Parts: sequence; C-alpha cells; structure tokens
Amino acid sequence: MILKGRDIAQAQIPLLRQTAQNIQNQLQIPVTLHIVSVGDDPASQVYISMKKRKGSEVGIHVEVHQLDKDTDQKNIEMLIAHLNQDPHAHGIIVQLPLPSQINKDTILNMIHPLKDVDGLSATSQGLLIQQNPTLVPCTPLGCLHLIKEVYPDVSGKTVTIVGRSCLVGLPLSLLLIQENATVTLCHSKTIDLKKHTLSSDIIVMACGTPHLLTEDMVSQNAVVIDVGISRLPSGEIVGDADFENLYQRVNVITPVPGGVGPMTVLYLLHNTLKAAILQNNLSNISTIK
Ligand code: NAP
Repeated sequence: MILKGRDIAQAQIPLLRQTAQNIQNQLQIPVTLHIVSVGDDPASQVYISMKKRKGSEVGIHVEVHQLDKDTDQKNIEMLIAHLNQDPHAHGIIVQLPLPSQINKDTILNMIHPLKDVDGLSATSQGLLIQQNPTLVPCTPLGCLHLIKEVYPDVSGKTVTIVGRSCLVGLPLSLLLIQENATVTLCHSKTIDLKKHTLSSDIIVMACGTPHLLTEDMVSQNAVVIDVGISRLPSGEIVGDADFENLYQRVNVITPVPGGVGPMTVLYLLHNTLKAAILQNNLSNISTIK
C-alpha cells in the first residue's frame, strides 16, 4: 500500500482551521507564525511559499522577515529578541540553512521555548529527552502520525531509523522509544545497514542519500517511511528509498514527493496553534491529538 501523506494531512485541515478560529475568537487577533529567512536559497523560498499557502488555508497568518544574505549575527539576534517579546508573534522559525557567517545554534537557542515551533532549541530538545515535551520538531511528529496510521500501537515494534540529525532521526527515535518501540538508530558509520533494516517492522529513511534502501534490504511486512528529499541531475525529486522497486514488495511505503513533506507542514501549523494555546493558557482549546 502507498501511504499518501498529502491526503492524510489534507484531512486534518478542517480541524486546524476550526482550532485557529477558536483561538482567534478568544484572543481577538489571528494566530501568527513568523519566519526569519536569510539569503535567497531557492529551495528555502519554495518551502516558505508552501508554508504561507497552507497557513492561509488554515487561517494562520504567516509573516516572512526576509534578510539579506550578508546580514550579521547581531541583526538576526535583535529580530528574534523582538519577536520573543511580541504578543502578536505566536510561532517563530528560522528557515535553514543559514549562511556560513551565522552561528545557527546560538540563533535557535534564543527562540522562546513557547514560540519555538520547529522544536530545535536546546530547551525544546532537552524537554523531549526528559519526556516532558512542549514543542516537538515537525517532521518526527509527521512520521509518527504516518506510522500510527498503520500501527496505532507501536509498543514492541522494531524500528530502524537511518539518519541521526537533531531535525529528524534523533527526536523521532525519542518519540518512538517513549511509545515503547525498540529503536535502532543508524548513520553513515553504521556497518551492515541491511542487517538492521531487514529485521525491522518499520524503517524510517532520513539520510538524504537517493535510493539507498533497496529491495533486498526489506522484509515483505515492512513499513517504510521515506523522509529523504534529493534532486537528481535530471531534476527529478526522489527519496532515500528505491520506491519503484519497493512499493510492490513491502507492506506500506510513503511516496516522495507527497509523503512526509505535507505532514511536516501540517505539524508546523499544529505547533503554531499549540504555541498560541500554551502562551495564553487556552486549555479549553485542543488541536491534533
Ligand atoms: P542531515 O542533517 O544531513 O543528516 C543526515 C543523517 O543521515 C546523518 O545522521 C548521516 O550520518 C546520515 N547518513 C548520511 N548518509 C548516510 C548513508 N549513506 N548511510 C547511513 N546514514 C547516512 O540531514 P537531515 O536534515 O536529517 O535530512 C535528511 C533528509 O531528509 C534530507 O534529504 C532532507 O532533505 C530530508 N528532510 C525532509 C523533510 C520533509 O519534510 N520531508 C524534513 C527534513 C529533512 P552521520 O551523522 O554519520 O553524518
């Protein structure tokens, strides 16, 4: 079966729209996400316009702060400090990658924990490790949602995640461990990747290496969640799994594009609503469970 994240995400839009409306009714201002963008990376511009489009579908106002590629660290820090104080700014994200003159971690760690809707600050990640998360990175939340479409209870399932970044693999491993799955976290130094993937119920590919997961590396019952996005020299966008040769062999696989990507945007909007709820103690309003 092909698990289409795009359709699953779209089905959640009415709930998010209702939640955004409920919050706006109480606060008398629209929920607002602020995106800090530095430079003109073409892929980043595509992602930003997608976030704006889906935001307006839900009723979340998305404001982009476009800074010059030569902007210095101080300028970005001043902007984040201002947004941290602004009660009209419910969510703040810094579009990555940042130019080389900028210290990414310093910037991410400055974002107020209740506005950190990408969940990438040290505080947000630390709270996740302590099993007391506030705002969790969006792609892992999207992956977990997709996995639960197949296995509502992942307790006891074996999961191999390929990729250990703070953005995807590492936080997803924590979420799955907290749900009592048994997780193997692989990376570029892993010896014999196939040994791990072949014996896993669930495989999450998040390494950015096109077509790394091939037919001989999976069991027929496997559920494959493909996070990877790579552009081939031909211009084609592909994932980390060899989709063409896998989709008829495995139990479930997500496509690229149209799989994890739309779920990531969905959970960014969810996190923005959750941030507005937390900042204003609106405990009577809920968003996606
Ligand atoms: P990243 O920070 O570059 O991390 C890549 C991870 O993959 C690292 O842990 C690396 O190992 C590991 N790796 C690289 N090559 C490998 C190989 N041949 N075998 C095993 N492990 C390997 O990347 P990221 O930010 O996590 O993103 C990963 C992919 O997901 C990219 O294609 C990105 O575009 C995509 N992505 C998609 C979404 C979405 O919404 N669909 C969101 C975020 C990212 P080491 O740690 O040893 O270097």
